[in-house]
Amino acid sequence: MSAAPTPADPAGAGGAAGPGHGRWTGEAVVDLDAIAANAALLVQRAAPAAVMAVVKADAYGHGLVPAARAALAGGATWLGVAQLAEALALRAAGVTAPVLCWLWAPGQDVRAAVAAGVDLSASSAQAVGILAEAARAAGRPVRLHLEAETGMGRGGATPADWPDAVRAALAAHEQGLAELVGAWSHLARADEPDHPSAGQQREAFEAALAAARELGATFPVRHLANSAALLTDPRARYDLVRPGIALYGLSPGGGVGTPAQLGLRPAMAVRTRLALVKDVPAGQGVSYGHTHTTDRPTRLGLVPLGYADGVPRAASGVGPVAVAGGRTTVAGRVCMDQFVVDLGGLPGAGRAAAGDVVELFGDGAGGGPTAEDWAAACGTIGYEVVARVSARLPRRYTGTAGAPVGGHPATGQEG
Ligand SMILES: *Cc1c(COP(=O)(O)O)cnc(C)c1O
Repeated sequence: MSAAPTPADPAGAGGAAGPGHGRWTGEAVVDLDAIAANAALLVQRAAPAAVMAVVKADAYGHGLVPAARAALAGGATWLGVAQLAEALALRAAGVTAPVLCWLWAPGQDVRAAVAAGVDLSASSAQAVGILAEAARAAGRPVRLHLEAETGMGRGGATPADWPDAVRAALAAHEQGLAELVGAWSHLARADEPDHPSAGQQREAFEAALAAARELGATFPVRHLANSAALLTDPRARYDLVRPGIALYGLSPGGGVGTPAQLGLRPAMAVRTRLALVKDVPAGQGVSYGHTHTTDRPTRLGLVPLGYADGVPRAASGVGPVAVAGGRTTVAGRVCMDQFVVDLGGLPGAGRAAAGDVVELFGDGAGGGPTAEDWAAACGTIGYEVVARVSARLPRRYTGTAGAPVGGHPATGQEG
């Protein structure tokens, strides 16, 4: 494989790593052009349905505002988030596109979100009532989306509760407190294209829409599809689709295809530099619990990232790493701040030195590991691998999509 690209110089004067570079122990490099290109591909696949770029959880770890701007530059016209604070952060950054927030609880400050023109979801008549009161306090109608339970068994009004939720929405609308914008639901098994579940959920969604119509409510924006459904089932697209993971260039699941098969570009790479290289004898126990012991005299490399940076502890012994001109796995346990690799046998082991670049995952183009390789090694999904990259690891942005002239707002994301 080819050498991993060189990360920003940790000691670089005013380099791309930004003002945080003095604290540099690694970086998550996010390619905004990849996010925009993925968005453009999804826009093309979804048409005539519109695309809501799902940017919850700091855009799956990629950086809320830069990722949102890149997705909009790629042609997405809506943004979707789980939490109120995420929606307000987009508004505070000056993002004016429609933003839907679908998860809140009574007692939270929904009035601020209504005041900021955030679209809000409700799954019950009670929730509609809370939003209507917030609209009254904010002095403007809430843009309302009703969520139907169609089989996910998570949010959404059950068929028994749906008519009450619809009637509450109609009442709020008549009082000028709500604009009926959307009706929506979420699929449980869209990443299994051959499973009947998605079809059953579509039928349940149709029934909810019909029941609303009978009560006199029409919702102009019907939405159901996540990335997997958008990529596999034209019947799930309706007026708007809600892709998240595909925007970031990862696959929603093996049954849907690999990123390369889907034409997606992974947008995040996590890199650092070896903090120490040292020769050790055979029989050296490595890291907590000595779950790895060297079986020959060898050379160890110390990687200054750990589970507090988002490296899964489940990667102990198995997480793939590109270093010293080849590929190896984490040796022994992942610690809070660091882990060890055994460089013995790698093509560049003899020349390896502190300061050498280590890539945990990237786009895989040069044969290096991907986030999906980490997911497979750790028994999780690519979603978790990128979303858990913590605020401790600075983000650095490449590409220009959605970036304001004069540079990214990105350095503010460093932490
Ligand atoms: C996270 C989420 C999505 C995006 O799902 P992907 O599988 O990442 O495309 C869409 N809709 C809702 C309600 C979600 O919670």
